[in-house]
Amino acid sequence: MTGSWSSTPPTDVGRYWWRAPDPHGRPEHQQYGLFVVSWEFHSSMPDHPPKRRMRSMCIFNSSYGGEMETGGWSLGGGNDWKTLASHYVGIEFWSEPERGPGGFMPDLPGKPAWTPRDPKVVEEELKKSKEASAKRHKEELDERTQKIADAKASGETLYECESCDELHCESDLVQVRECPHCNDEKFDGTENGQSCPSCNRRFTRNITETGCPECLDECEVLAEDAPEEPKPEPAPAPKKRKR
Ligand SMILES: [Zn+2]
Ligand SMILES: [Zn+2]
Repeated sequence: MTGSWSSTPPTDVGRYWWRAPDPHGRPEHQQYGLFVVSWEFHSSMPDHPPKRRMRSMCIFNSSYGGEMETGGWSLGGGNDWKTLASHYVGIEFWSEPERGPGGFMPDLPGKPAWTPRDPKVVEEELKKSKEASAKRHKEELDERTQKIADAKASGETLYECESCDELHCESDLVQVRECPHCNDEKFDGTENGQSCPSCNRRFTRNITETGCPECLDECEVLAEDAPEEPKPEPAPAPKKRKR
């Protein structure tokens, strides 16, 4: 073995060990886990060059990321190394990739082939997508104005979601509950009742009676004659996939 521990994250593709001291200084509680460095290319973003990604795979002896399973390890992966480093002060990485017996993850991809597209074509597409999103934005605004006018005419109270800005009438709102056993997972209590859909426990918390049916966040009564806030122009760039 020629490797060593270093606070500089590795850049070569592979799987690495990381370690960090226990925040309370207990040597038997040293924290450690596995970390993967790989190249990623998103087919949905053909104009973006491939990127090297560093993500945690699992965390052992964790003091972060919720309850531990018996045996002291959790599969709390998915963080990039900067997030990891902010939670594990003093993090260090083993300098050599660890591939395990018989070559663990032998098909970890290398840098994918990528050729930049004709910038003229890209620009043309960008322009088209900008126009389309401006049109969509206007349609949404018109729809909103219409909804407010309709509610006014029928004397109905409108609610606005704080997260997605969607307008809902009272009958569309849902009761939102969260389960303290499932990382405060939110669910629609109107539809599922009081039991958590994940663990089926009944002792869940009622968060709000005026929940948004789309995103389960709280809705507030739409302030009457509120000055129209100019909405920020929607970004034309393709959405990054959530992982
Ligand atoms: Zn919402
Ligand atoms: Zn639950």
